[in-house]
Amino acid sequence: MSEMNRAAVDAVRAYSAAFAEKNERAPRVSVRTFGCQQNEADSERIAGMAVLMGYEYTENPEEAELIVFNTCAVREHAELKALSLTGQLKHLKAKNPALVTCVCGCMVAEEHRLNELKNKYPYIDILFGTGAHERFPEYLAAALKTKKRAFYPDPETMEISEDMPVRRENPRQAWVSIMYGCNNFCTYCVVPYVRGRERSRRPEDILNEIRELVKAGYLEITLLGQNVNSYGKGCDFGNGIGAYDFADLLSDICKIKGDYWIRFMTSHPKDASDRLFDVIAAHSGEDARPHICRQFHLPVQAGSDRILHKMNRHYERADYLALVERLRARVPEIALSTDVIVGFPTETEEEFDETLSLLRAVRYDAFFSFIYSRRKGTPADKMEQVPEEIKKARFARLLETQNEISLEKNRAFVGRKMRVLVEGVSKTDESRLTGRNEHNRLVHFPCDDRSLIGSFRTVLITGADTYTLSGEYLPEDGTTLKGENR
Ligand code: SAH
Ligand code: SF4
Repeated sequence: MSEMNRAAVDAVRAYSAAFAEKNERAPRVSVRTFGCQQNEADSERIAGMAVLMGYEYTENPEEAELIVFNTCAVREHAELKALSLTGQLKHLKAKNPALVTCVCGCMVAEEHRLNELKNKYPYIDILFGTGAHERFPEYLAAALKTKKRAFYPDPETMEISEDMPVRRENPRQAWVSIMYGCNNFCTYCVVPYVRGRERSRRPEDILNEIRELVKAGYLEITLLGQNVNSYGKGCDFGNGIGAYDFADLLSDICKIKGDYWIRFMTSHPKDASDRLFDVIAAHSGEDARPHICRQFHLPVQAGSDRILHKMNRHYERADYLALVERLRARVPEIALSTDVIVGFPTETEEEFDETLSLLRAVRYDAFFSFIYSRRKGTPADKMEQVPEEIKKARFARLLETQNEISLEKNRAFVGRKMRVLVEGVSKTDESRLTGRNEHNRLVHFPCDDRSLIGSFRTVLITGADTYTLSGEYLPEDGTTLKGENR
């Protein structure tokens, strides 16, 4: 932490202490996250900073003295939602003039949104993008001292800060960012513009963080990056390691002893290597501890070569299918998921049909589908657009096609005993607990013993629908921990 930051932390701590003295409680912070897991991870750092500075965390913005919105810019829908909730800050600020409001993240890194936020939302005190979270104490100290609103642009070169405290939302499942930014410039995507160029964390910093998490009892660690497969590319980590890539990192993580699961996302097909598949094969399967989950998110985006080319994806349909074949040959039972965009500019009906036929050819276990959303400043925004009603009709057909496949795939689990990491009480039925298996399927099972939450348990799968599995909890007979649970 820089000297300047340390001084800011001390200044805010003094404010929190004075507040606590006067109000007989600590000031409260509420952080709301929009968008992807990377944003969730960033929010945990911002909340960690606030807690370090004497704030107490609250889920309820109505009772907070500091509100942070960490925004997403990947599709218009996410932006509109964040803007609408930002509008509601006005009445909270009117009720509590001492409230400090902060909007940060990807949306703030877009020039036109930044201007909108500056001009139309005068009740936002602090605005900053994605490149300098570690400077949050400085921004907050200045806002508390001067009572003036301020915007902090991202630094020219975005660096990585290693010593920020983290307030993790979950005591068993942790996000670990291994890299930031993206160099790919897919023509529809705003991420490279708002998150800057790729930069990888040093292997020893990642390994130390994971070692600590395992020691603290974390059971699932998800490695995050916009394109984890290009981890370490072009990096000299400065410690004599030389070329060191994602396969090396995964393999080194697996040397950390313990019974925990490792997941990672996202993989770009152009960078996924057979070496990576071999590492997964070596550290997955019935008895592997730690265990790389047999689940692979491999966004394809579209099934037509012309569209893939216009998207700047750097692979063709045949390359993708061959990659899937190699992955499945090396890691049998691997669950595959993907992202698909419908209605990319100029997409014809025949080209859309190629996406449907690709879904049928690959038979994904799960998918995330998006209607193409125009993003200012990206090349695709200037291409000839597909009318809204056509996009919507294609989207419905896409869902129908994949739902059929997902249901068939889920039914294949019925009758199997599976290890499940129990995550919580089912939102729709309080008499059931819910968790996920290694293939990332949601599994519900009737059980009123809440002490099971946050542990691996064995469940016999007895039912399946499109999105979830249901089952019966098999109280432990010792097999779960030995990995003979299937
Ligand atoms: N780096 C990751 C995730 C990027 S954002 C990757 O490359 O897979 C997650 C998903 O959002 C993308 O895979 C894409 O399917 C979707 N997406 C990105 N920009 C979009 C846009 N303008 N309109 C619709 N979907 C978009
Ligand atoms: Fe966006 Fe493509 Fe980078 Fe993913 S790989 S973040 S889709 S530009």
